[in-house]
Amino acid sequence: MDIHQRIAEITDRIKLAAQTTNRLAVKVTLVAVSKVQPDERIEAALAAGLRVFGENRVQEAQGRWANRRQAYPDLTLHLIGPLQSNKAEDAVALFDVIETVDRPKLVETLAKLAQTGQKLPKLLVQVNTGEEEQKAGVAPRDLPALLQLCAIHELPIEGLMCIPPENEEPAMHFALLAKLAKRHGLSVLSMGMSGDFETAIKFGATHVRVGSALFGERMRAV
Ligand SMILES: *Cc1c(COP(=O)(O)O)cnc(C)c1O
Repeated sequence: MDIHQRIAEITDRIKLAAQTTNRLAVKVTLVAVSKVQPDERIEAALAAGLRVFGENRVQEAQGRWANRRQAYPDLTLHLIGPLQSNKAEDAVALFDVIETVDRPKLVETLAKLAQTGQKLPKLLVQVNTGEEEQKAGVAPRDLPALLQLCAIHELPIEGLMCIPPENEEPAMHFALLAKLAKRHGLSVLSMGMSGDFETAIKFGATHVRVGSALFGERMRAV
């Protein structure tokens, strides 16, 4: 299968999943996760019309996208990996959406950048729904305080993102994220990857992050 066929297949599966859950009206955005993919696959995806991409490392994303911005002014770039405070300024400059706000220090750094006049990307909070120690994201019980801190700093948060634990049924994590978003009046839900995006859509995903099912296997694990 070439990338055109893969895009068509994934798009069909997204539509079908939305339809079977009566979410016809809701648009589900496909975020093509381009991390680690070779240039020719990126070019093929662009030629096929994809414009929304996800990256998990700031520096790698700069190398891949900074120059392509001019050729493709309608690109939308999502940061989906953990963000260190010292890379926040670069991330703010490059990305349209930062999905991984997850701790007070980062909130304060972003607020400072906003104060100096930088236009901030759209922001999502990453929730560590499985409370895994090695994983980024705010624990569900700490979410209210983090959202409150964002409000104090006048940082608008549009939604939530999660990455379920690898060896667990993802549905319960998607359900939890949807419940938390609803409770806090947040409309954007970034959840679902190659193996589980249809399930995520059933639980209300507005953005699915699909890498290997679109581009093929990545060259190295990340
Ligand atoms: C790599 C990655 C994805 C894409 O994973 P696939 O299983 O290849 O679709 C999605 N979300 C995040 C946060 C990732 O790091």
